[in-house]
Amino acid sequence: MTFSELGLAEEIVRAVTEHGYATPTPIQAQAIPVVLAGGDLMAGAQTGTGKTAGFVLPILHRLSDKSVKGPSSGRPPVRALILTPTRELAAQVEESVQVYGKYTKLNSMVMFGGVSINPQIQRLRSRVDILVATPGRLLDHVSQKTLDLSQVEILVLDEADRMLDMGFIRDIRKVLALLPAKRQNLLFSATFSDDIKALADKLLHQPTLIEVARRNATADTVSQKICLVDSQKKRQLLAHLIREHNWFQVLVFTRTKHGANRLAEQLTREGISALAIHGNKSQGARTRALAEFKSGQLQVLVATDIAARGIDISELPHVVNFELPNVAEDYVHRIGRTGRAGAEGQAVSLVSADEMEHLRGIERLIKRQLPREIVPGFEPSDSADAAAGRDAVPGGREGRGQSKPAGRQSAGGVRQRQPESGQRRMPDSGRRSGNRQR
Ligand code: AMP
Repeated sequence: MTFSELGLAEEIVRAVTEHGYATPTPIQAQAIPVVLAGGDLMAGAQTGTGKTAGFVLPILHRLSDKSVKGPSSGRPPVRALILTPTRELAAQVEESVQVYGKYTKLNSMVMFGGVSINPQIQRLRSRVDILVATPGRLLDHVSQKTLDLSQVEILVLDEADRMLDMGFIRDIRKVLALLPAKRQNLLFSATFSDDIKALADKLLHQPTLIEVARRNATADTVSQKICLVDSQKKRQLLAHLIREHNWFQVLVFTRTKHGANRLAEQLTREGISALAIHGNKSQGARTRALAEFKSGQLQVLVATDIAARGIDISELPHVVNFELPNVAEDYVHRIGRTGRAGAEGQAVSLVSADEMEHLRGIERLIKRQLPREIVPGFEPSDSADAAAGRDAVPGGREGRGQSKPAGRQSAGGVRQRQPESGQRRMPDSGRRSGNRQR
């Protein structure tokens, strides 16, 4: 299967090929024909599956196709609206629109909060065919009457589950009320909760349903392991691992913004270049941190779950869970940052005794037990060791699934630095539960 066999216009196929994509990913192969045919779509696909091109390419095709009727008079209107939960995702999606649309005559714009509204107002005075936006700023423009959405032909809700998690449902409803009744609707979501289904019922008209597994995510290319350690030694252990293995481009997850800031400062003090990225940072600071990280200037990026959502860094070699997420499903999202596009990735979780419940929840979700390791010099104290030992799985080859007696033989029973074996395929993520930290 090739992109031209999917029916995409030559100028779009050319841009995609130049960008280095030879064959469509499963979500692209399934979604593109549906969107080209003008139908509504409900797609279950996570970041990492290639979903962005799955909707951007056919939208570019439809909007540049003269036979698809656009409006005839007046100022050129916004014809496609793509809503995303985060600024970073909006920026990345719009970048994709530019890359894939470079041989078309279509114009795009990205719009999000946290930056001055005036340049956006200025930009809206000229032609914008495809608008990528976060809901809040979009509505600011509507209330200032600087944006008219009455001629939108195609609406995309990207990462709709995240939008609902982040409390955007009222904003989404307001936006829907501003759109013409007759339009094409595409909904992308990593999970299909009841809330998502309710939204889809309201929004979509006889949609085609597509669901794809995360592309090569945790199964083949990401090695995962747990390092058991006392919580107060995590920072030293992280610095040790980074130095010892000479890790670059390490994405580290913390649970809180405060924790992200503190860790980035501490690593910097230890001579490891690190910046934190989270919702309290200005857009400028976030963009700068991400750019430095992508270019390799910055060794470590410390992020909270929400901030990291939508960050697209292909072939990211290392993800570290400095703390396990409260919500097991976020573990899957986090480690989905690594091992992309066929590249090898490594996901290491630093787990202290108080996190064993979270670890069990994650293992239940992914239906496998993760190999434990203790790094010499960072052996957990008695309490942590005991908690770890209760359900520690001697990893790799030795008796997976058996429990190990508690005790101080820490580095003995628990695996020390062996390659994992017998990785299983990650199931599609299940329902989300619990509270999430932003
Ligand atoms: P997404 O799920 O849209 O965030 O895309 C995940 C990653 O896959 C991005 O780094 C894309 O650049 C990459 N990608 C998208 N489509 C393809 C393709 N057909 N072949 C190879 N890589 C792709």
